[in-house]
Amino acid sequence: MIIIFSAPSGSGKSTLIQHLLDNRQDLELSISATTRAPRGKEQDGREYYFITPERFEELLRQDAFVEWQQVYQGTYYGTLRSEIERIENAGHHVVFDIDVKGGINLKRMFGDKARAIFIAPPSIESLRERLTNRGTDSQDKIEERLAKAEIELADAPLFDTILVNDDLTTAKQNLDKEIKAFIG
Ligand code: ADP
Ligand code: 5GP
Repeated sequence: MIIIFSAPSGSGKSTLIQHLLDNRQDLELSISATTRAPRGKEQDGREYYFITPERFEELLRQDAFVEWQQVYQGTYYGTLRSEIERIENAGHHVVFDIDVKGGINLKRMFGDKARAIFIAPPSIESLRERLTNRGTDSQDKIEERLAKAEIELADAPLFDTILVNDDLTTAKQNLDKEIKAFIG
């Protein structure tokens, strides 16, 4: 089975995915390739495969990606076919942390085998606050992410479920229920 998570940046998607992975050994995160630089304590092969734009293009030519997007200006992200195989061969369900367009594309590809979950913030203002408090992005990057968030929210109805991450404990409980109903 496949679980797809998409959300405007700062909605709490990573926090909720981490909660799920910490509590369910049958799930495994698909590690994407990206041309952006590692942030903070991120490590190659753990959060992402950090690669050069040249390597990204080479993989594109080899048709190595199931899907890919230029999520931010000049920054590419892609889901490797080899990741899905790796996780399925390990007997695990695949979890995707992917932008909204990528999430919609994967849902179209996988149909009923996939549950597409849109994590929504309670408001744009709370997004601004969370991104500022997270302290990982410059003010420019935060403004870029907020502008994009407004557009992404319009696509939420294309997902199987919209999970509003207001109170974190409640959101985690709702997510656990959702996954249990889908996978068992
Ligand atoms: P995303 O992966 O969607 O960009 P993160 O999981 O990094 O978002 O969350 C953004 C910031 O908001 C983090 O600092 C995180 O600790 C915080 N956060 C997550 N969920 C909540 C919540 N329900 N209430 C308040 N802060 C939250
Ligand atoms: P960040 O730079 O904050 O890690 O990620 C930015 C956005 O890119 C997030 O919304 C994340 O889900 C998305 N993303 C990560 N990997 C992929 C991928 O392989 N494909 C697509 N389409 N988006 C991705």
